[in-house]
Amino acid sequence: MNKYETLKYYFGYDKFRPMQEDIIDTILNKENVMCILATGGGKSLCFQVPGLMMEGLTIVITPLISLMCDQVKHLKEKGISAMYLNSTQRYSEQLEVLKCVRNNKIKFLYVAPEKFNNRMFIDAINDCVVSQITLDEAHCISVYGHDFRVDYANISKFLGFLSKRPVVSAFTATASQSVINDIKECCNVDFKIFKSTFDRPNLYYETIQSNDEIKDLKILLDKYSDEQVLVYCLTRRQTESLYYRLDKESYSLALYHGGLDSQTKSYYQDFFLSKKKKIMIATSSFGMGIDGVIRVVINMGFPMSLEDLSQQQGRAGRDNKESYCYMIYNMKDLYYNEYFINAVDDLALDKDTKKLVKKVKREKLREVIGYAQTKRCLHEYLVSHFGELYMSYCCKCSNCNRNTKTIDYIKEARLVVDTLKLTKEKYGTNIVSKIIVGSKENSIKEKYLNKIKTYNKSYHSINEIKNVISNMVSDGYLDKTYDEYPVLKLNENSDIIYRLEKYDIKK
Ligand code: ADP
Repeated sequence: MNKYETLKYYFGYDKFRPMQEDIIDTILNKENVMCILATGGGKSLCFQVPGLMMEGLTIVITPLISLMCDQVKHLKEKGISAMYLNSTQRYSEQLEVLKCVRNNKIKFLYVAPEKFNNRMFIDAINDCVVSQITLDEAHCISVYGHDFRVDYANISKFLGFLSKRPVVSAFTATASQSVINDIKECCNVDFKIFKSTFDRPNLYYETIQSNDEIKDLKILLDKYSDEQVLVYCLTRRQTESLYYRLDKESYSLALYHGGLDSQTKSYYQDFFLSKKKKIMIATSSFGMGIDGVIRVVINMGFPMSLEDLSQQQGRAGRDNKESYCYMIYNMKDLYYNEYFINAVDDLALDKDTKKLVKKVKREKLREVIGYAQTKRCLHEYLVSHFGELYMSYCCKCSNCNRNTKTIDYIKEARLVVDTLKLTKEKYGTNIVSKIIVGSKENSIKEKYLNKIKTYNKSYHSINEIKNVISNMVSDGYLDKTYDEYPVLKLNENSDIIYRLEKYDIKK
């Protein structure tokens, strides 16, 4: 069968989406590829079609054990022989899988990177014909990526163990240039790069700074009561508490997070995807590989990175129809993000790598805060993060629609710059804000900060000053160090503040 026949026979589609065909041709030509395609772009077909056409086995390395089962199930439903191998299976089951591999009985084997060092696995695959190694969610290989997984450290060693090097195809929805370079280096493979556009013109984006997040959420749930709505929280506990809170008010709810047993997860997933339940409250573990029509995605609080945000929002409108993405946040939500940053300390990494991973996580989080607070077009903000240019006014985001109130904070912005100069850039947002609003706390008096010229010079609240500072950072007028105790620093743009007539900030 040629590629068109394969597409029609196994997947029922008549034509390829942009880029799919080029990627497939390159793989069939035995050239290694790295493909950066937006969520919903159709990555799976890019390795599955050539995998079916080439002689031998495709090994798909994926970090998400929970998804392997689903993916294998989908392939089997299409009449394709596929199996998975991971440590959750009994030893006898794993032996059975390896036997099928040796006997060339399967076309696709999904494995977790934890198997990279497993001798039995390596021996089995060296005993059969392997046509392709696919690295799914390839950004997990890089410490600069938003979801680095320690198990990937042995990727290049693993590729070296293979007696014959098959073509390597790597896929991710999100990778900046530094991540792409790092993946190349970690794998020691020369890839041909394919990168699609990251803009999703059918999505409307809105950010809502909220003092009552539940109230604002309910306004949206009522507005979209006829649609399938996916609500993302950062932690399992948050999903549960939101679920039980809304459940009292008889919303049509489903719940999903990694801590639920698989029966409960599939019960809720099926109910939501078959539209028997309207609202899914989930952590990021819900959504990969699912194929239902979701019209609205709402993020409660800050995801850990713009990559996570795009991936989650990207689950809306996969049918290319108008769909809506909201982010409801309050600065105090950052408390939950800090928990994930500190969790790096528990990883099996050396001290320097831990420090680097934590720093990367803080930088990525800062970009999300920037997204929440920017006055720029939100489509432009997102695609420029992925290295693309975008025209300014999209009419598909809350900022371009100009339905947000703004307030001029030029006086406060200048006070911030003055305070940094007077205190020799030694302090972070908290102390600088306290100085400007004239805090009477001992910590301020003890350091004689109540004696400096900018002390008590604004009638705005401390939270408003903090908001001004975080806008100045995201707009590039100030820098912030990425340590455990971040300090504000002046940069080459800081003095521009004295020349601006107004500094408008979203209210
Ligand atoms: P990704 O992994 O890039 O997010 P998937 O591989 O899950 O995307 O594909 C997203 C959806 O698009 C799936 O429902 C898939 O079946 C569908 N799809 C992929 N390629 C095509 C195509 N050529 N024609 C029509 N639908 C496609």
